[in-house]
Amino acid sequence: MVEKITSSQQAIEMEARYGAHNYHPLDVVIAKGSGPFVWDVEGKKYFDFLSAYSAVNQGHCHPKIIGAMIDQAQKVTLTSRAFYNDCLGPYEKYVTETFGYDKVLPMNSGAEADETALKLCRRWGYDKKGLPENQAKIIVCEGNFHGRTITIISLSIDPDAYAGFGPFTPGFIKIPYNDVDALAKALEDPMVCGFLVEPIQGEAGVYVPDDGYLKKCYDLCKAHNVLFIADEVQTGIARTGKMLACDHEGVRPDILILGKALSGGTMPVSAVLCDDDIMLNIKPGEHGSTFGGNPIACRVGIAALEVVKEEKLAEKADYLGKIFREEMSKVNSPMIKQVRGKGLLNAIIIQPTNGKEAWDVCVKMKELGVLAKPTHQHIIRFAPPLVITEEQLREAIEIIKKAIVSFE
Ligand code: PLP
Repeated sequence: MVEKITSSQQAIEMEARYGAHNYHPLDVVIAKGSGPFVWDVEGKKYFDFLSAYSAVNQGHCHPKIIGAMIDQAQKVTLTSRAFYNDCLGPYEKYVTETFGYDKVLPMNSGAEADETALKLCRRWGYDKKGLPENQAKIIVCEGNFHGRTITIISLSIDPDAYAGFGPFTPGFIKIPYNDVDALAKALEDPMVCGFLVEPIQGEAGVYVPDDGYLKKCYDLCKAHNVLFIADEVQTGIARTGKMLACDHEGVRPDILILGKALSGGTMPVSAVLCDDDIMLNIKPGEHGSTFGGNPIACRVGIAALEVVKEEKLAEKADYLGKIFREEMSKVNSPMIKQVRGKGLLNAIIIQPTNGKEAWDVCVKMKELGVLAKPTHQHIIRFAPPLVITEEQLREAIEIIKKAIVSFE
């Protein structure tokens, strides 16, 4: 018999007993969500300031996205790509027109989309750039987070991500983030075919590079006939105040990687976009996924992007993000070392005070009704759903301030 959850404690104990211990969640058990809010099993209401790592940009259970999901679930859910389905073509047309690329390759998780981009880049390196077999190299940035597969952790410099999981995939050059000179030097290697970068490093702690960094990197890549690959899994789909974070610098990546909010947080939907010159080097049978491009994902993907446009979520993120940073910068607390971010992807760097750290601040905020989580030890990321109103944001800011000053 399936046990029914009647208390948060019961759910926490059950997960600890039967689930892998690969996460350390805050002690809150969410049973319901709507817009910027979630409710726990006992019915307590919270502002969600994580948005499932920026997957729920459109807010929890957005009626338009859920409507598309239910409608399609009652027709057909999965065909595999062995056959055509009547949702994929319209989705491919919509998503490529939205982002301005010739083609899209649909996948599910962000990590899979990153893997796909790396394969596309290597293949282009061999077929178009003419690199000798198995010699292709791709430049990546220290502090990156692109997911959890073996190849992707091979790119990481975080021992929590890679240690104990070797041997690792070769063919990558790691350079410091936000360092144009380091990129210029690495590009001197003639085997390089790609540069993979997050426009803002989200998981690392919302590291915003210097203005102009992306454009300079893009221009350098062009000068060396190297593909500029943007991982916008976290920064994309309006989170930073533009549809893409690269839009802030007028950069159009050669390969664009999307995920998370492409489904409004309803299911894993990711995508890799590029032009024919890159995409068509991969032929039938050379890459794929059973669930990638499934009918529900396609319907959900269109609805999720329509919501972003109709509700002007990029403009909202830009406007509300400024209020968040301005208000938090005004707080006169020794615990706040720095406030940084773009749009509604922000972070506060916590200076441990009286033995209290970022984790304690998050526990206190939870008590007061705001959910957020530390990334690394001293950084708290604040990324509410973009549908939050100014009034709601200001209410949440007061709670955050109260939590922080409570430790002085
Ligand atoms: N790329 C970036 C920039 C991310 O932030 C993440 C997840 O946080 C991923 C890729 C991996 O996405 P997923 O967890 O869906 O595999």
